[in-house]
Amino acid sequence: MNIPLNRVKDLASQVDFVNGFTETYGDPLGMKASWESMVNFKNIEATKRTEIISANAQWFEDHSPIDPKFKKETVKGVSAKVITAAILAGDCYPATPIGVNLPNSNWIRHEYGSKSVTIENITEAYDLASMGNGFNEEFMWSNVERQRAKAFASLTNNLHTDLHECLGHGSGKLLPGVDPDALKAYGSTIEEARADLFGLYYMGDPKITELGLLPDKDAYKAEYYSYIMNGLMTQLTRIQPGKNIEEAHMRNRQLIAAWVFEKGQADKVIEMQKRDGKTFVVVNDFEKLRTLFGQLLAEIQRIKSTGDFEAGKNLVETYGVKVNEPIHTEVLARYKKLNLAPYRGFVNPVYTLVKNKNGEIKDVTVSYDEDYVKQHLRYSKKYSTLPTFN
Ligand SMILES: [Zn+2]
Repeated sequence: MNIPLNRVKDLASQVDFVNGFTETYGDPLGMKASWESMVNFKNIEATKRTEIISANAQWFEDHSPIDPKFKKETVKGVSAKVITAAILAGDCYPATPIGVNLPNSNWIRHEYGSKSVTIENITEAYDLASMGNGFNEEFMWSNVERQRAKAFASLTNNLHTDLHECLGHGSGKLLPGVDPDALKAYGSTIEEARADLFGLYYMGDPKITELGLLPDKDAYKAEYYSYIMNGLMTQLTRIQPGKNIEEAHMRNRQLIAAWVFEKGQADKVIEMQKRDGKTFVVVNDFEKLRTLFGQLLAEIQRIKSTGDFEAGKNLVETYGVKVNEPIHTEVLARYKKLNLAPYRGFVNPVYTLVKNKNGEIKDVTVSYDEDYVKQHLRYSKKYSTLPTFN
């Protein structure tokens, strides 16, 4: 979701809102926007995480495993704010975005910069809801992976997104004279892969625990495992039988997972194991996996920095597009049995003002005991602006 100009300049507010016609995703012509509304407040604790990342941007750039001639001499991290959504309405309700990003318009970005916001209580709710739905039980290799996911997946997933957004996209530089559009149709897949790899590579770096961004030196393994499992197998639940991968983020994830799988095959870094007729991803060597992420990052940065269209096309077409058909068929069948809803929505809490005898507001209580249907009926009764008959 994107935000208008006045939102970009305001960085200090503790309480903020989105209220208006902003996004045009629902209109194929990209002209008619839908009404979106959300009141939110800053998650001060989680925002510290993105501030630490941004404050150390230069260290990350200097230690990146890419050719020094593609590094930025001075790099500035984007400081992303982490927020808690307090109430959702319009097109944000009941299904909501998990992030608010940039302004759409290039000239506003150029003149005023951009802003990235993560709505952490929403991503946290998704993560918690996923814990008991049978997905990890079905697709993860053993209890070791499941326990690690339970302990760290939410945290490491958010951290990976932060590294991707705050540092990944802003890292590296083009060589003089290289056309920023040189990679053409493969440009966005390569760019997303670059940002993802930057994040993956650093998640396993001791610097991350040193900065206090992860509580445990093995926590990053939760993200490595789920990234590879998703890229090699489970994201295929979103592809129809017989189709290839079209979407840039999905191509990038398979590209990375399939490339490191192939390059690590001799050392058995990652294996596809069978048990009871089902296929599972097993990661045997997390340190070597990290080295492979670094190698692919170096190659992808070279492609981007030099505008090497043929190499970019080759990588994407070889690893990112074609679906492994037997795995696809198997994953679809296993996923179907879990009977999971493809989208999830939210019910708003009910806020009640507490006033003293002078009528001054003293407190606001929050309750979660209204169900989805009752909530809609109450909203239509209290806030409907149109008559129910004419
Ligand atoms: Zn991105």
